Amino acid sequence: MKTLVMKFGGTSVGSPTAIQQSAEIIHHQKQSWENLVVVVSAMGGITNLLIECARTAANNDYLTAKRVLTDIQQKHLTTIESLIPAGAEQSALKAVVHQHLDLLTTYVESIRVMGEVTPRGMDTISSLGERINAQIVASVLRNLGVPSQAVEATRLIITDNTFQNAAPHIDLSRQAIQTVIQPLFQEGLVPVVTGFLSANQAGITTTLGRGGSDYTAAILADCLDADELWIWSDVDGVLSADPRIVPNARTIPELSFAEVGELAYFGAKVLHPKTIRPVVSRNMPLWVKNTFNPDFPGTRITQHPQRTRGEITAVTTIHDLSILTVEGRGMLGVPGIAARCFGAVARQGASVLMISQSSSEQSICFTIPAEHTQAVIESIEEEMSLELHRGDIDRVWAREKVTIVSVIGSGMREIPGVSARIFGALGQAQINVIAIAQGSSEYSISLVVNDQDAREAVRAIHANGIERIKPEV
Ligand code: ADP
Ligand code: ASP
Ligand code: MG
Repeated sequence: MKTLVMKFGGTSVGSPTAIQQSAEIIHHQKQSWENLVVVVSAMGGITNLLIECARTAANNDYLTAKRVLTDIQQKHLTTIESLIPAGAEQSALKAVVHQHLDLLTTYVESIRVMGEVTPRGMDTISSLGERINAQIVASVLRNLGVPSQAVEATRLIITDNTFQNAAPHIDLSRQAIQTVIQPLFQEGLVPVVTGFLSANQAGITTTLGRGGSDYTAAILADCLDADELWIWSDVDGVLSADPRIVPNARTIPELSFAEVGELAYFGAKVLHPKTIRPVVSRNMPLWVKNTFNPDFPGTRITQHPQRTRGEITAVTTIHDLSILTVEGRGMLGVPGIAARCFGAVARQGASVLMISQSSSEQSICFTIPAEHTQAVIESIEEEMSLELHRGDIDRVWAREKVTIVSVIGSGMREIPGVSARIFGALGQAQINVIAIAQGSSEYSISLVVNDQDAREAVRAIHANGIERIKPEV
């Protein structure tokens, strides 16, 4: 039994034309695969509007919240009208929209009264876009002659209680997925599953984090023993850089799981970083394809890519960071300083994206999301109060508004001269590098630069490291 899981992201289902296009792709693939599962995101921009609606209500800006709510409603109703002919199916879909927006109105009113929105409330609200859109896409498919049924992932993906960034219990989810999806396969239906959302063991809605629909699709692919997973987006696959920074970025035809893991972790938005976890353990081929250029193969991601290529594969960035430095001569040779320091960071719920320590052990520096800067400094100062008092540690300080630029590629392994080329390119562009880290896997080198230099740094590395390598034949 050949099974394919396909995920369509926000832009692939962001307008009536895009939804129609995605439905045609599904229709086409239905002819080649025995079992097909579709995962859909909310229409592009809707999740942001839902979050804005909740936040403005919490700030007592009820007028804006109501206006946003009307925009969300309007966008769905006009989409339905242009895709589904007037009649029973259209009325049923419009009723779905009204039902969800009535709920949203109730939530918004209670948020306004309470003056706050909890992470749990935010998950219930931010997942409404997927719930509506799965119904729309299933209906468009039926209209095209593809028997299909919308399925809410609260019935499929069972998670812990970490609202807004929930972790799935894979065994429980596997059982639920098999129980719900297999009967649909037997009836010849295409399940259209809501991406992004899930539920805890009590059935309360959780979400897998922003951009989490990719992860939903990977979990389904794993739990259904699928043969392949295809992620449909609005670009020609995984590119050598963010196309908004480097317009001539190229499609990378093949990547390894390890490389794509680094790429996603270091900010290539095209895939959620957790997506590859479930597929890597099964060695399942993963494709990234363009909904608006469906005949183009896109990027194939496997354990061992066949093709050889230049040593640098891609350049990525993560913005909105601060780099913290803990420095002092008294740290030399004292065991446990780093552990205590990172313990203090973890207590603030901040994740450390990159670490670098000078070999003289006189400073440790690491990057964290900017929003945690002040709290983390205070937490480390408290943890190290004795060392600060004694003068073993001189100070804990932050440089704000920095970006991590990562250079990724398994071809860099054991090849001398790659860093020279990277730093040469940055030197020529007169860009100051604040810190450097290289993983022992040698799949990536990461640099910290000031925010205002980040775009230029990406362009300089891309021009000197990637464009100069001859395209494959
Ligand atoms: P979707 O809604 O389909 O999930 P996303 O917006 O989450 O789409 O991700 C796709 C976007 O990621 C692209 O439109 C592109 O602008 C951006 N992007 C950033 N870096 C890369 C990269 N290295 N390769 C491809 N796309 C990238
Ligand atoms: N709609 C969700 C978001 O915008 C999930 C996704 O698109 O993957 O974050
Ligand atoms: Mg995405």
